[in-house]
Amino acid sequence: MHELTLNNGVTIPALGFGVFQTPPDETRAAVDAALATGYRHIDTAAAYGNERQVGEAIAGSGVDRSDVFVETKIWISDYGYDETLHGFEKAARKLGVDQIDLLILHQALPSDFDKTIGAYRALEKLLADADVRAIGVSNFMVEHLTALLDAVDVVPAVNQIEVHPYFAQREVQAFGVEHGIVTQAWAPIGGITFYRDSGHTSTLEDPSIGEIATAHGKSPAQVMLRWHLQQGRQVIPKSVRPERIAENFDVFDFALTDAELATIDGLETGKRGGPEPADVTLAAWGRPVPED
Ligand code: NDP
Repeated sequence: MHELTLNNGVTIPALGFGVFQTPPDETRAAVDAALATGYRHIDTAAAYGNERQVGEAIAGSGVDRSDVFVETKIWISDYGYDETLHGFEKAARKLGVDQIDLLILHQALPSDFDKTIGAYRALEKLLADADVRAIGVSNFMVEHLTALLDAVDVVPAVNQIEVHPYFAQREVQAFGVEHGIVTQAWAPIGGITFYRDSGHTSTLEDPSIGEIATAHGKSPAQVMLRWHLQQGRQVIPKSVRPERIAENFDVFDFALTDAELATIDGLETGKRGGPEPADVTLAAWGRPVPED
């Protein structure tokens, strides 16, 4: 298993499994298929509404709990110190685990950054008490990371951000490299370019990626995953289809050349697919996370 070492020495599989938009009634089967394929990292979130089914799949899989790296995210409605401590309790209860491997803040809340800091302070407390093994953030831009580092003690282990060939956020990635923060790529095969109208064409249909894929006898999705892995990013592709779950895991028997990596780097469009981080507010995005 290929692993990355986080800034506190904890290791994480370089290739994990995402469950955003996986309906609760399909989550158990998807996670079952992923674990049977060999994935040992699952990325969920309070906001996805499927933590319970992720936990059930892990518990029923026959794979030791200690061999599965479980990551989830605190939603903005649970920001603030006490609220986030309670958010951890809700997540652990739904997942059916005592300890969460990686707990991260889902978004910065720029309009209420004190609450964001309070939430992160709670993550630090959970880390100190060994309720979680590592802590981090998601969708934090350089200005949010800079303000966070000024206010807290523990450097986030990860920043989970949108990264695919059409939108790579290189300045955020560079900040991560400088400060020892691993970039986790969400929409690593460009999902947001084809499941949302984000002003892009689909990365899966990109002619340059297609040519590289043909040259290696691989698929466009496999080429994109390989691009991330060779550039040191952690990836969490999502699928509900067993054949794609297997395809996305089969990326360790080929390597892209420097020229191929540069070609993919050159596909940048500068167009974000996900929400503009500066616009995330409780008024627009808040919704309560259920207790059970
Ligand atoms: P992905 O880049 O993983 O793409 C997923 C989409 O691609 C789905 O529509 C899936 O459909 C399809 N797909 C999967 N594998 C293949 C393949 N081999 N060939 C063709 N199509 C394929 O996008 P996601 O947005 O899901 O990102 C991955 C994970 O990142 C999420 O599941 C979540 O864990 C995380 N994430 C985090 C966010 C954040 O704000 N922190 C935001 C968005 C995602 P199907 O299931 O039908 O196969």
